[in-house]
Amino acid sequence: MAVPIRFILLLCLLVRSTCFAQDGRVLPVVVLDPGHGGRDTGATGANGALEKNIGLLVAHEIVRLNRELYDHALEIYLTRNTDTLVSLYDRARLARVLDADGLVSLHCNHANRQEAKGIEVFVPKGKSKHTGRAKRIAELFANNLQQDLGYWNRGLKGANFQVLRETREHCWSVLIELGFLSNRKEAEHIVKEAATTSIALVILDTLIAYLNERNCK
Ligand SMILES: [Zn+2]
Repeated sequence: MAVPIRFILLLCLLVRSTCFAQDGRVLPVVVLDPGHGGRDTGATGANGALEKNIGLLVAHEIVRLNRELYDHALEIYLTRNTDTLVSLYDRARLARVLDADGLVSLHCNHANRQEAKGIEVFVPKGKSKHTGRAKRIAELFANNLQQDLGYWNRGLKGANFQVLRETREHCWSVLIELGFLSNRKEAEHIVKEAATTSIALVILDTLIAYLNERNCK
């Protein structure tokens, strides 16, 4: 694992200096982090769906929509492109090395109580100069996923997750739990292609609106 990651980081350093749109605009840089991967499957759904696959599918769909619908409005990098396990340290490091505007980690929830449902968005615990931005975009993700797709909004929470903690001082970072795989209805919904596309579109629209509104870091 170490060699490919180093290679990706080197490649990113080279590419990062050329993040310009054709009209000369500097493009916002966002790192998408599909949770888990490889032998770490994450949560397993009531229908057998694996969290590691859902995060990767949503991330790939965001990349596709950014290319085909928005003609590369954002410069997007993934912490992993395939079903492989990348360390939490390297995931956070990618955002730092790229000097990214932000990082979005994509996960699914799991609970013993099968009725538990909805979207949860986490921001890093503890203050930094990016705390306000993290809370703002987290709130937009939660509200838009609720309003546009009908998800129950469980609100924002602070967490000490490594990927958030190790990016906290460098950029805004959030972790989105895209529903509960332990809830049969949500698990069956999220494996549908239309659900992947609609979730990806809401996340991408939210990122573009927020980053264009700010137009800088
Ligand atoms: Zn997870």
